[in-house]
Amino acid sequence: MKINCIGILTSGGDAPGMNAAIRAVTRSAIYNGMTVKGIYRGYKGLLSGEISEFKTNNVSNIIQQGGTILKTARSAEFREPEGRKIAYETMQRENIDALVVIGGDGSLTGARIFAQEYNIPIVGLPGTIDNDLFGTDTTIGYDTALNTIMDAVDKIRDTATSHDRLFFIEVMGRDAGFLALNGALASGAEAAIIPEIWTEVDQLEALIEHGFRKTKNSSIVLVAESEVTGGAMGMAERVKQKYPQYDVRVTILGHLQRGGSPTATDRILASRMGAAAIDALMEDQRNVMIGIQNDQIVYVPFSKAIKNDKPINRDLLNTLRILSI
Ligand code: ATP
Repeated sequence: MKINCIGILTSGGDAPGMNAAIRAVTRSAIYNGMTVKGIYRGYKGLLSGEISEFKTNNVSNIIQQGGTILKTARSAEFREPEGRKIAYETMQRENIDALVVIGGDGSLTGARIFAQEYNIPIVGLPGTIDNDLFGTDTTIGYDTALNTIMDAVDKIRDTATSHDRLFFIEVMGRDAGFLALNGALASGAEAAIIPEIWTEVDQLEALIEHGFRKTKNSSIVLVAESEVTGGAMGMAERVKQKYPQYDVRVTILGHLQRGGSPTATDRILASRMGAAAIDALMEDQRNVMIGIQNDQIVYVPFSKAIKNDKPINRDLLNTLRILSI
C-alpha cells in the first residue's frame, strides 16, 4: 500500500527528545513525498480531531526544546473499542494512511491493538525517560533524565557532606531501576535500591551490612519510585525505626526529571529513530517499534517490545557496591 499521508502523535508521559523525534519524522516524511499531519494530545486528539498539517517550518527550532509541541495526554476512551472506532473514522476523514506513535509501553500497547483492529500501518518510537522498553538499548529521553539526576545528586551531595547525613533520593522509573542504578553510578552514590531485585534480597539490610557509613560520614542512596520498594519515604521510615542513630533525609526529584533541553545523545537518537520510522513505513513494515541495539537501528515487533521485561545489567550493581567502599 502506498502511504501518502502520515499522522504523528506523542502519548503518555512526555520525555525530552520527543520534539527532536517529531522534527525528524516530519522532515523525513516530507522529503519522501508524504504529507504530514500533527495530531495533538495523543490518542485524545485522534478522537476529537485536533489535527493540523505540518510543513517543514512547523518543526523549526524545536530540536533543543524539552516536552512535546504536540502535547501529550492519556485517553481512557481509546482503551475501549468504541473510542478506537471514532479514532479510525477521524483517520479516514483526514485521509491519514499510517501513524507514527511516540510514547511508552501503554501507548505502544494501544497502537498494537488499533493496528490489528483496523489493519493500519503503525510504527512506534520509544519515548520514555524510564528506559523500560524491551528490544532497544535506550529510549528517547532516558539520557537527558539521567543527566538531570546526576546534576541534582551532585548538588545534594554538597549539603549531605556538610551535615553528615544519609540521603534517600527518589528517582522515576516506575517498575524499572535503570534511572536509579545508572544515576547512582554516574553521581558516585553509595547504593541504588531497585525493584528488579526487590524480592531476592533486602537491599537496605544488605547496604547496612556492607558497612556503609563505616568509612564515610554521609551517604547517598538512589531509590527507584515503585510500589514494591516503597520509595524513598518507605526506606527512610525503616531506617528511622531500626537505626535511629542515622540523620536521614529524603528528596523526591519528581517532575524536574522530565524537563529540560535534551542531551546530544537524545537528540541524535530521536533524529535517527524518527527518520527510521519513515524508512520502516516505506519498507512496508507494520506493527514495529524502532529500537537501537549496539548503535544499529532495529525493528522490534510491538508484541516483543511491550510484553518482554527488559533485563537490567546486574553486574552494574556489583560495580556500584565495589566503588562505594
Ligand atoms: P509512560 O511510560 O511515560 O507512562 P505510556 O505510553 O506507558 O507512557 P500510558 O498512560 O500507559 O503511558 O498510555 C498512554 C495511552 O495509551 C493511554 O492513555 C491510552 O489511551 C493508551 N493505551 C494504553 N494501554 C492501552 C490498551 N491496553 N488499549 C488501548 N489503549 C491503551
